[in-house]
Amino acid sequence: MKVLVAVKRVVDFNVKVRVKADNSGVDLSNVKMALNPFCEIAVEEAVRLKEQGVASEVVVVCVGPGAAQEQLRTALALGADRAVLVESADELGSLAVAKLLKAVADKEQPQLVILGKQAIDSDNNQTGQMLAALSGYAQGTFASKVEVAGDKIDVTREVDGGLQTVALSLPAIVTTDLRLNEPRYASLPNIMKAKKKPLETVTPQALGVSTASTVSTLKVEAPATRSAGIKVKSVAELVEKLKNEAKVI
Ligand code: AMP
Repeated sequence: MKVLVAVKRVVDFNVKVRVKADNSGVDLSNVKMALNPFCEIAVEEAVRLKEQGVASEVVVVCVGPGAAQEQLRTALALGADRAVLVESADELGSLAVAKLLKAVADKEQPQLVILGKQAIDSDNNQTGQMLAALSGYAQGTFASKVEVAGDKIDVTREVDGGLQTVALSLPAIVTTDLRLNEPRYASLPNIMKAKKKPLETVTPQALGVSTASTVSTLKVEAPATRSAGIKVKSVAELVEKLKNEAKVI
């Protein structure tokens, strides 16, 4: 069974992001970039399926700038076999990314496609769902457990107030939730080995996909800065302030 894993290059989760002065987006100059954490979980799950003898090959795909090769190498160091970079310097919307992933899936013919449930930069939570709609594959989103049995896959989903288990016919799309697994760290020998693994670069044009967007970002704003707190001397003063200043009681 071939597994395709979609991984996104995002701002590292430890970085405190700054909004550009003209409010057109987030300032990415000199900012540490990383593999989206939910995508790391997706790679880990695919690699585990390979270690269990369920998957035969794990292919990782990223839509992004040339520099995203770095994140693909990270995924290769975590155990993926091969990487595909759909190179585009433009910031693409989810639908364009989903169309490109579909073109790659059409070429690769995976039995299973794993994506993160969400990219931590855009917080869109829609690429996997869009890919499922475009490809007609079954989808199991927010997976906390995945079990392949023959030509079916059981996906336990984290839903409000509980768990739901669905059985999907393959080929299928799974998006990962936080509790699916704990990704491993790449060992130094595996980082060295990853440098030699195949990494193919294609363009959206070569895949025959138009990336024109129907959505444009009007404005990006940082959250309002919080004013400093104060210390009160007594309960009476606290109650007075809650009543008259904060007006919450
Ligand atoms: P989103 O819908 O943007 O929140 O992203 C959900 C998931 O879709 C991510 O965790 C990735 O698995 C996949 N994805 C989103 N954007 C890209 C991209 N540019 N390249 C590859 N995969 C992506």
